[in-house]
Amino acid sequence: MKLIDGIAVAKKVHEETRTRIAALSCRGLRPGLAVVLVGDRPASRVYVRKKAEQCAKLGFHSLRLELPDTITQQELVAHIAVLNADPKIHGILIQSPTPPHINEIEVAHAIDPRKDVDGLHPVNVAKLALEDPSGLVPCTPLGCRRLLLEYQVPISGAHAVILGRSRIVGKPLSLLLMSKGAGGDATVTVVHSRTRNLEKITCQADILISAIGRPHFLSGRHVCEGAVVIDVGINRVECPGTQSGYHLVGDANFKQVAPKCSLITPSPGGVGPMTIAMLLSNTVKACCQIHGLHL
Ligand code: NAP
Repeated sequence: MKLIDGIAVAKKVHEETRTRIAALSCRGLRPGLAVVLVGDRPASRVYVRKKAEQCAKLGFHSLRLELPDTITQQELVAHIAVLNADPKIHGILIQSPTPPHINEIEVAHAIDPRKDVDGLHPVNVAKLALEDPSGLVPCTPLGCRRLLLEYQVPISGAHAVILGRSRIVGKPLSLLLMSKGAGGDATVTVVHSRTRNLEKITCQADILISAIGRPHFLSGRHVCEGAVVIDVGINRVECPGTQSGYHLVGDANFKQVAPKCSLITPSPGGVGPMTIAMLLSNTVKACCQIHGLHL
């Protein structure tokens, strides 16, 4: 078994981003990312802070908009309209989850699709389905595919089983891996909470990707010998006695699953850093496309 080092691959992606930022800078351009936080969830605050720190390291213009959880849908959409019109901003991300009274689908509709670096606007969803490379693709699926490519995992013809069908991970990842050409051409099965005989299906996977948000759900029984496992799950489990009172674990029971795999991501330290790396890469792509550049 070999570990997939998400931190190392993310660094490589950041270096590529740095090079593209330098090329933009020569043209007097600086990519800008706006991250909108609604409410005060501690976990979301940590994610937003990490994104801002990475933006600063790479020289992005970054804007953090913190809004109270009492904000109305209409007011939030009005803030998004201001960001849509801001020429310094090329990427807009609304940190999920938002409070329950906010309709995330409507919010995604409100973002200018050219600045939709989370890839959730219907135009970008359609472009992914149509394999139009100008679309902005959700960052976590992009990160998962990049990890497979970096570790030279054969994707073409492989059976990829994805656990979870969310619009941010499972669904777009299924489209990416089944798309034609490099990094695609897999035979994809998506399983979810209503799937019967789940173990029987996951055991057929050459590539098994779990994004269900259930700590230690994936056991040795779910995995065949030699499979590649990408664990997207990041779950808080209570851990009395630690400073924070919790620790983070993936969807996989690592001790059981890892010995059976050829390759596996740890969680944390696997997909998480890739998500931020692909977000910043998407922001540079958005900046280039808005300015009609091919870098
Ligand atoms: P989500 O929207 O809650 O979706 C979870 C999916 O898992 C749903 O499709 C659900 O099925 C399915 N599911 C839940 N329990 C199941 C079970 N027992 N058996 C089979 N399927 C089951 O979650 P998400 O936003 O995609 O996130 C999933 C996990 O990934 C979370 O731990 C999240 O923190 C993590 N995540 C990590 C990153 C990163 O950067 N590493 C990014 C995004 C998410 P139904 O559709 O039938 O309900």
